[in-house]
Amino acid sequence: MKFDTVIIGGGLAGLACGIRLQNRGFKCAIVSAGQSALHFSSGSFDLLNELPDGTAVANPEKAIHLLDKKHPYAKIGDKFPVYTQEAKQLLLDAGIEVQGDSKRNSYRITPMGTTMPTWLTLTDFTTLETPNEVIGKKILLVNIAGFLDFNTKFVADAFETNGAECKIISVSLPEFEKLRQSPTEMRSANIARVLENENTLNALVAKLKEASKSFDTVALPAVFGLSSNDPVKKIKQLLDIPVHIIPTMPPSVAGIRTQKRLRRVFELAGGFYMLGDSVVNAEIGDGKIYNVYTVNHGDIALYADNFILASGSFFSNGLCASMDGVTEPVFGADVDFDPNRNTWYNASVFGAQRYRTFGVATDDQFRIKINGKVQDNVYAIGSVLSGFDALQEGCGAGVSLLTALYVADHLKK
Ligand SMILES: Cc1cc2nc3c(=O)[nH]c(=O)nc-3n(C[C@H](O)[C@H](O)[C@H](O)COP(=O)(O)OP(=O)(O)OC[C@H]3O[C@@H](n4cnc5c(N)ncnc54)[C@H](O)[C@@H]3O)c2cc1C
Repeated sequence: MKFDTVIIGGGLAGLACGIRLQNRGFKCAIVSAGQSALHFSSGSFDLLNELPDGTAVANPEKAIHLLDKKHPYAKIGDKFPVYTQEAKQLLLDAGIEVQGDSKRNSYRITPMGTTMPTWLTLTDFTTLETPNEVIGKKILLVNIAGFLDFNTKFVADAFETNGAECKIISVSLPEFEKLRQSPTEMRSANIARVLENENTLNALVAKLKEASKSFDTVALPAVFGLSSNDPVKKIKQLLDIPVHIIPTMPPSVAGIRTQKRLRRVFELAGGFYMLGDSVVNAEIGDGKIYNVYTVNHGDIALYADNFILASGSFFSNGLCASMDGVTEPVFGADVDFDPNRNTWYNASVFGAQRYRTFGVATDDQFRIKINGKVQDNVYAIGSVLSGFDALQEGCGAGVSLLTALYVADHLKK
């Protein structure tokens, strides 16, 4: 099989790159082993919340000049503001409604009820200009009875610390009874499926209306809208008071929707998405890759002019750590890491972790290296890259989207 470009990994980075390339007239295939980080996403896309030394960032566009030259954003350079606009537009064009500004971080509410800075947030969720916005508000915090992945007590404590007054209730509907028979079934995505039924959603809204009469705001878990954000829009429209939709523990309903939408746009643009298949091997020549092999296609090789590695970090097996070091399993690409394992971890679990900055080494065009030799037709994008700590710096989605667009624009037919 022959394509212009084969992309390994169909998460945020692989899909954004594939959409851009299809729109540029390339014929692309994405091979993707399984779920991506989007299935665990908060519903917000971070661009840059902190510098590596812990300094808070209010305006990501201004702060990128302070980053080390190994940071992926440093390679993007002056095109950074252009790509932030285009990344936002790519999401909007895919029907993923987001709000936010790359010149000014806003605040999102976490599953614990605390606030964190971020760039773009799905319009389902509340964004705050400052964490103090809840001061003096009477908030009704509602859970679905039996749903364990939304910790109302933590959320209420955090809201009350920020000056709100909370009451917690749980609501039940006969339609949830089947799910409730097993706690493993009572998960966000299954609840969202039940609430796709308009009558069930209306019944829930009726209960919320009654319960929220003396409150300023209703807060609900993000269990609405696997395919579109219409259920959230409907709830917001039918209740007379503001509604906060709060992210839950995974799986993320809004993240699954984002993944589905991006995949659909890629396929509508003519791309091939091979889900449930893994690239396991490649034929490597002198400074280039000729083809790759996958589990499902056996000895039928996938040929392409260019290959893009978007296989994610440790979480998605794009990187593997062993006692001897850190490796990239598909191409055996060079990885930036410290051979001294003692430097990998920070004893403070919530602190910056050095191992999270490890990743595939690339030249200034994001081309990978094998044994020190740059591979002319193989690029790496997204969280498989080295040089940043997505969690501590709060830059995961930004790096994925911006490197995807940058590389897609630099490929030649
Ligand atoms: C649990 C979690 C939650 C996160 N939440 C957020 C958030 O809320 N906001 C934010 O800004 N950032 C978040 N991040 C950071 C996140 O890394 C980026 O936002 C981004 O989604 C990563 O996208 P990616 O495409 O680079 O990698 P991934 O999403 O990890 O996708 C990589 C894909 O490659 C596939 N793959 C791997 N190896 C192969 C192979 N050999 N063959 C074929 N396919 C392969 C995997 O199955 C996977 O589907 C989160 C990260 C994690 C781990």
